[in-house]
Amino acid sequence: MNAGNLENTKPSSGVTARSRYRGRFAPSPTGALHFGSLVAALGSCLDARANKGEWLVRMDDIDVPRCVPGAAEQILDTLRALGFVWDGEVVYQSRRTDAYRAAFERLTEAGCIFPCACTRRQLASSGGTTIDGGQLYDGRCRDSLPPGEPPRAWRLRVPAAEIAFDDAIQGMLSQQLQRDVGDFVVLRADGLFAYQLAVVVDDGEQGISHIVRGADLVDSTPRQVLLQQLLGLPTPWYAHLPVAIDGAGQKLSKQTLATPIDVKQPLTTMMAAWSFLGQSWQQGHEPDSLEAFWPEAIRQWQIKRVPNQRQLSAPDYSR
Ligand code: GLU
Repeated sequence: MNAGNLENTKPSSGVTARSRYRGRFAPSPTGALHFGSLVAALGSCLDARANKGEWLVRMDDIDVPRCVPGAAEQILDTLRALGFVWDGEVVYQSRRTDAYRAAFERLTEAGCIFPCACTRRQLASSGGTTIDGGQLYDGRCRDSLPPGEPPRAWRLRVPAAEIAFDDAIQGMLSQQLQRDVGDFVVLRADGLFAYQLAVVVDDGEQGISHIVRGADLVDSTPRQVLLQQLLGLPTPWYAHLPVAIDGAGQKLSKQTLATPIDVKQPLTTMMAAWSFLGQSWQQGHEPDSLEAFWPEAIRQWQIKRVPNQRQLSAPDYSR
């Protein structure tokens, strides 16, 4: 069985020099900005600015059923109130389906994609679990659709390859994709393109060279590296920040009802996010206003101080 055209694509070397830097923050507008997403915004912005790079904001609103009306504007308002300044226009994934379709068609023509007829129930009874707790696909439709069963979703035919990348915070990470993830969905049964495909197409088209984001996405990265290789896109430099968890060990999220950021105390909020990221102030250079925070933080930011942990407790007030 042809495992896609991985052999025929140039392996990407990743970006090593930090001379040309374009970073981004890509929130999903499923609710207000909370401390967990603020940390990703701050880490990605400071690392870009400290390296004299650009920093873009993109709304990952591809998963329309999960998006909350008004949340995108609310997130942007909160970022502005905290003094964030981004380059260029905000890009919305929901307006970019043509680009995702073009990538999907290229992958299909290269033999990398197959239709899958499996229902949720069939998938649930198929056994294994993926590295991030999902349902491991058992390959039932990999060779052909079972007779009389219409296609529901489209999956990427994952080759028997090891994908490794060197994360600037979490260190060297690798996955055996067939074993750890299995053939994954790129076009969902509800007709929406999957996050994994959309993020790779967007980062590629926007020329993102450096990705700083939460470690909850570290296990998605090898899938994204594979898609970059299949689409002939460069692999960015990655740094995965610790994810903020609450007292019960749950990731702060809209689902766990994390407290939205209070913009009435902007300096306190930014100082808490700064400390969470393992940063400290040079004596005598601690900012006393939001205006002073930004230039000092950009000057004093050191990514090597960020704890190399996947999770860390959030400060009390933010939970
Ligand atoms: N939209 C994703 C999230 O909010 C982040 C995507 C990314 O940074 O790659 O979890």
